[in-house]
Order: sequence, then structure tokens, then C-alpha cells
Amino acid sequence: MSESSRLTLGPKPGVTYPIEVIYCGNCSMPIEYCEYYPEYDKCKQWLERNLPTEFEKIKLSDETSEGAGDEEKKRQKRGGKGMMKAKKKDDGPKQVCVSRAPRGKKKSVTVVTGLSSFGIDLKVAAKFFGTKFACGSSVTGDDEIVIQGDVKDDLFDVIPDKWPEIDEDLIEDLGDQKR
Ligand SMILES: [Zn+2]
Repeated sequence: MSESSRLTLGPKPGVTYPIEVIYCGNCSMPIEYCEYYPEYDKCKQWLERNLPTEFEKIKLSDETSEGAGDEEKKRQKRGGKGMMKAKKKDDGPKQVCVSRAPRGKKKSVTVVTGLSSFGIDLKVAAKFFGTKFACGSSVTGDDEIVIQGDVKDDLFDVIPDKWPEIDEDLIEDLGDQKR
């Protein structure tokens, strides 16, 4: 507020006097205080029935001002399913996938993906698998580890054992990769 308007007393331009105070039939407060009343919802219902014009005004200010009134309804209206989807996408589906891939004529390797979605350091994991299965194991992609050997079935025990946050149910067996 500027200095001059704060000091101005008396009738203000654009305001009709006397100012009419409208009292709410639900909480008996002037309707501009309704939003502080715990049963603001009921106040609004009363307003909608008895003073539809005032109700429209409140509805409008509700939609433009943050933190007033019916939080839950507002969030549903604003957020909707679109936001839920976006959030889910950010988190990514938490799942580890294991599959067997042919390597050479008789050998297979095991491909593990998804470990980093659990916040697991892939280098540490690759080293762990190498030690555990006594074979080569390396990080081969963004979120991919290739273990030199067919250890896919063992991983269903080994992974939840090493990282308890990964339940056996969260490991998806993708089977054999086609050549
Ligand atoms: Zn009220």
C-alpha cells in the first residue's frame, strides 16, 4: 500500500456507503470470514443456495488464491490424472529384469537391468556378481549388467539376499533373448 492511500481517510471512490455486510446463514459470520470457519464447505453450500451471486465471487477467488478453502477438491481439479502420470514416469517402474542371452555357440550370458532404479551402484553390483558367481561381470549400459555365465535362476535368490529392498517378486524373468 502506498503512503498516500494509507493516510487517506473517509469515503473511498468506487465504494457505495453504507457498506452492506452480508452474514452467513451457516456460521453467522460476515461471509468474508467464512473461509476461516472450519465448516467452510457448509458455508459455501449455504451461500450457493441463498446468495448465488456471492457464492460465485467466492468460488472465483478460491480458484485464484492458493491455500483458501477446499484444498482437496482444488487439488483434484488442478492436478488430475495427468500429474499423477507424470510423477510416476519420473520415478520409473521399479523392477529388475533378468534374461539369458546366447554368447558363442554353447555359452550364455545373463543380462540384468533395472538395478539402478533401486539406487544401486551398477559398478558395485557388477563386481558383486563377478565375485559371487566367479565369472566376468560388467556394466554394459545405462542400467545394464552382463554376467558371463548362465546364472539367471540364481539371481532370484542372490539379488533379494544382497539387496533386501528388491523382493523376489520385483525381479522379472524375461527368459531367453533371441539371437
Ligand atoms: Zn459461513
